[in-house]
Amino acid sequence: MGKKLYITTAIPYANAKPHIGNAIDYLLADIWTRYQKQNGQDVRFQVGTDEHGNKIAAKAAEEGKTPQEFVDSMLSRFTDMMKAVNAEYTDFIRTTDVHHRAAVQYIWEKLQPYLYKKSYEGWYCVGHEAFFTDREAAETDGVCPDHQQPYQRISEENYYFKLSEFGPAIKEALETHKFDIVPEFRKNEILALIESGLQDISVSRSKKNLSWGIPVPGDDTQVMYVWIDALSNYLTVLGYPDQEGWREYWPADVQVVGKDILRFHAAIWPAMLLGLELPLPKKLLVHGHVHVGGAKMSKSVGNVVDPIEIITNYGVDAFRYYFSRHVPALDDGDFTWEKFETAYNNELANELGNLVSRISKMVISYQAGVVGDGIQAEHDSKPYHDAMRSFEFNRAIDEVWLSVRSLNQYLEEVKPWMIAKQQETDPDAEAHLAEVLAHAVGVLLQIATQLIPFLPDTSARIIALFKDGVVRGDPGVMFPKIYLHSTDPRRK
Ligand SMILES: [Zn+2]
Repeated sequence: MGKKLYITTAIPYANAKPHIGNAIDYLLADIWTRYQKQNGQDVRFQVGTDEHGNKIAAKAAEEGKTPQEFVDSMLSRFTDMMKAVNAEYTDFIRTTDVHHRAAVQYIWEKLQPYLYKKSYEGWYCVGHEAFFTDREAAETDGVCPDHQQPYQRISEENYYFKLSEFGPAIKEALETHKFDIVPEFRKNEILALIESGLQDISVSRSKKNLSWGIPVPGDDTQVMYVWIDALSNYLTVLGYPDQEGWREYWPADVQVVGKDILRFHAAIWPAMLLGLELPLPKKLLVHGHVHVGGAKMSKSVGNVVDPIEIITNYGVDAFRYYFSRHVPALDDGDFTWEKFETAYNNELANELGNLVSRISKMVISYQAGVVGDGIQAEHDSKPYHDAMRSFEFNRAIDEVWLSVRSLNQYLEEVKPWMIAKQQETDPDAEAHLAEVLAHAVGVLLQIATQLIPFLPDTSARIIALFKDGVVRGDPGVMFPKIYLHSTDPRRK
């Protein structure tokens, strides 16, 4: 067996509850993890929360809590979301973890050759933890529109990271596929960015402007800004640098990120790793955003879709199904409650759910629950595996659905219920019926096996139903019809 596998997800900022973009991170990483585990691989799957910064400190103050008490109180929202989407993660990192804080200080010291102090003057917004240019400050009349607070004219010394030095090495790694970005058009965006020249970035703030963070070692006037603190989590969660085992998993095989944070992961992060003399992740898997009926999801418009609401009403596998099949893994997608419910009723309830109950009921009523030894159907599964390996999860599940539809069609054509009726008069009918049902069960089991990464609960139910070639009892309704956002066609 080769290297042990490692997949990561972005760590959301713990000042608000997680959103659908986070849920999609967990889902994509989980699909990949389950697929790899199915193929016998050892996989570590990281999740976590980013817990430092002024926004956290401000929220904590509003609630009369210390920042640590505040982030502790936020934690369950994130673990609840991860569990709700049925993500089988192995490691949870909090940037306030004692080990993380110590490891990040070690990383800072190792990056010394690439850090320098520089004084900077500009308009500072404490809420943003960032400087704005004269022009930006003038355009908003000197008041931050997001924080409703005047910018302060500040001159301070910060540490800078020599990101500009790493452009050529990152470019070379991308061109030689040592470090890759999927899909290709995202990779081209980053190559163009590097071509235009990477600028050094400020990686610390003076303590008076940022109190809640990891102190810069050896300089008690400075606190680390988000970059080195948060990005390091992908290493520190494995136990870097001092705990056993991290070398067996690093470099990450896949790092799942949303397109809005690609730049940090495709420029700052690989530069840090090069500075630490560590190998770069093999792949960044970049997903898009989910729109609602073609519009951007936003709190002010009030069209925010809560994954928990979907899962509560339709079940976790229905959520996983829609967001792996009807939202492409590598691009933007669209959601409406109507589209979702239609997919649920037509595809999950009618096409898959009915298929399972039809086949199992026939095996029960025609053969006392015993599936004969027949042909173990083996549809060509290469297109499915090709799609899985190239992260085109929607194409993989489309392939599975071709089998679902062709099995439904097969039953319509062969009509096992007619063969059953012929048994009284035709001596060959019994064997023929057994062969047809064995074939149907074989295809259905192949479908269930290919659905394991996508619909873990459903596939486990199907596999258990036909375990050992005997159907024991009624399977029940797998996806009961739901009409919360559409009308039951039978009632029209
Ligand atoms: Zn601001």
